[in-house]
Amino acid sequence: MKNVSEMFGSMVFNDSVMQSRLPKEVYQQVRQSIKLGTRLGRETADVVANAMKDWAIEKGVTHFTHWFQPMTGVTAEKHDSFISPIEGGKAIMEFSGKELIQGEPDASSFPTGGLRATFEARGYTAWDPTSYAFIKDGVLCIPTAFCSYGGEALDKKTPLLRSMEAINRQCLRVLRLFGNTNVTAVKTTVGAEQEYFLVDKEVFEKRRDLMYAGRTLFGARPPKSQELYDHYFGAIKSRVAAFMTELDTELWKLGVSAKTEHNEAAPAQHELAPVFSSTNISADHNQITMELMKKLAKKYDMECLLHEKPFDGVNGSGKHNNWSITTDTGVNLLEPGETPYENAQFLLMLCAVIQAVDDYQDVLRISVASASNDLRLGAAAEAPPAIVSMFLGEELESILAAIENDETYDGREKEFFKVGAHVLPKFPKDSTDRNRTSPFAFTGNKFEFRMLGSSSSISGANVAINTAVAESLRQYADALEGSEDFEGDLHKLLRSVIKKHKRIIFSGNGYGDEWVDEAKKRGLLNLPTTPDCVPYYLDIKNVELFTRHRVYSEIELAARYKVKLDTYSKVLHIEALTMLDMAQCDILPAVSEFSGQLCGAAIAKKSVGIESAYETETAEKISGLTTKALAQIKALSEATQNAEELSDSYSKACAYRDSVIPAMIALRASVDELETITAKKYWPYPTYGDILYSVK
Ligand code: ADP
Ligand code: MG
Repeated sequence: MKNVSEMFGSMVFNDSVMQSRLPKEVYQQVRQSIKLGTRLGRETADVVANAMKDWAIEKGVTHFTHWFQPMTGVTAEKHDSFISPIEGGKAIMEFSGKELIQGEPDASSFPTGGLRATFEARGYTAWDPTSYAFIKDGVLCIPTAFCSYGGEALDKKTPLLRSMEAINRQCLRVLRLFGNTNVTAVKTTVGAEQEYFLVDKEVFEKRRDLMYAGRTLFGARPPKSQELYDHYFGAIKSRVAAFMTELDTELWKLGVSAKTEHNEAAPAQHELAPVFSSTNISADHNQITMELMKKLAKKYDMECLLHEKPFDGVNGSGKHNNWSITTDTGVNLLEPGETPYENAQFLLMLCAVIQAVDDYQDVLRISVASASNDLRLGAAAEAPPAIVSMFLGEELESILAAIENDETYDGREKEFFKVGAHVLPKFPKDSTDRNRTSPFAFTGNKFEFRMLGSSSSISGANVAINTAVAESLRQYADALEGSEDFEGDLHKLLRSVIKKHKRIIFSGNGYGDEWVDEAKKRGLLNLPTTPDCVPYYLDIKNVELFTRHRVYSEIELAARYKVKLDTYSKVLHIEALTMLDMAQCDILPAVSEFSGQLCGAAIAKKSVGIESAYETETAEKISGLTTKALAQIKALSEATQNAEELSDSYSKACAYRDSVIPAMIALRASVDELETITAKKYWPYPTYGDILYSVK
């Protein structure tokens, strides 16, 4: 293997490549445009495009694509070649600034949530110079935003960039209040830890539910799953280890700093953690990571499952979104500082996040809502409740209490704790990272939002966090700008924020039933399903939030509302049809064959006077369950048809939630029971045990 530092980023048209390949003034213009988020002039773009093309051709590339992130949550690309025919039947390799900056994919099949009806059918893609171009599968990929001709965002990247701008604007106002004049920009940073399952390809291909729905729709629980926790951080199997090594290598080439890989709690479950970077780049990198995981798993005759809950009764997969804010001078604003002033600033930032999470619980919940993540959050019996709350750790909580009540803090200070006058202790990570059940935990110098599903893009969640925090900061800047007694007013502000929003802070067991009651008493939202939370998108408070900060226009928000609900219904539609197909075409026929065999054996035994209790009782049980399953199949089929007939997105999603899901659960219960009494050689599918222990 080439040495890592040589390999790292070797497939990325990054800053150092640009510096070495672009004329000095062009390079400076690109840097400026990255920093200020402005567009490159056409001539400059031509020079950049040409350099990019030459660099790519040297690496054997013949095609380029605008790589974008439509509202499906996965990435899209349409390949074009550099080849441009010239006279005499020859061709040259060309790539213009225009092609770099703007593309026009035929985007008519991507979800638009109704945006297309109002605007032109075609969309266009526009280069995002803040995320470097890279070579993937021999194609030059140019990260782009995807918009309608009216400029409406049809993708996940545009709102994310806008939300980063929003928090930058408001945060700078707040930093100025603290006399911070040297900072010219702040960026949110994210490290997204990715969980996934690996199963053997052969087993996977025998299960249509895994193939079509990404999760098992049937399956009795195995005698052994994660009870012993022997998989967690356990020794990594050699096939998995080889996969992880190659995954790391491929990610490194693309500049994705994959750092740790280990086994997770469930059998066959693993995790990859990257080193954090700017949120926009993290979002791109997480998409690349998921894509590469899926692709490389196949190479090792495995399948990578990114679904949030591939197996009932077994731990699901999430994505931990580690989030912070950093200045362009390199200061992490969620890190307690050295001086009382820095600490006051830290406390204000902390309060901004607390207020944001409390005020916009609904927006955060929506940002992680999907049919698949519902199975991990709140909607399923074994899932933790879908209540948004925060964990700060004892030390910080007592500091906030001291501020709120004008008390001494922890006996360290003999006088009242005064913002701007006292130094805070450093928070060692282990004192703040103990609660793994909290959806939004402070972990020493960053927050970890843990509700994200493993398969989703991280953009939505970060749009929500960035914009909500921008709003708290806006209010603080409004309140404190022009203050005559800054420290006094700051202290008062912190006190009132803590008083008002401390209900969101909870350090107990977030998975316990008591929490559901307690949260209700506190007036916190509990929105178990996607249709429960999505309507909050259109709440006046949330429309105001997003429009004020220019992250979503009202019409863009309405589009997201519709896409979320439609996607929910579509996913459940596929699942229901897959279940019907599996039950009717494989399971019931197999069970019938088995019961025929049992009956035959019973008759044969009877004829020679041998007792046949096993055969008779089992056949009877099968017959009972089959009759039940048959009725449930009809019910599921009917419920699905009825739901499909509804045209309004919300009513349809509710019909899926209220009629189709219960029908799916009922059918599954009968089928899973059938599985436990059917001879293995008749059962048409690999069992949970077969799948979970398939990678040897
Ligand atoms: P864990 O909390 O899972 O034990 P770490 O705290 O080491 O592990 O890191 C978890 C993730 O948080 C990593 O992806 C890391 O890069 C990321 N991270 C660390 N610091 C920051 C930061 N300032 N902003 C965003 N992410 C960060
Ligand atoms: Mg973590």
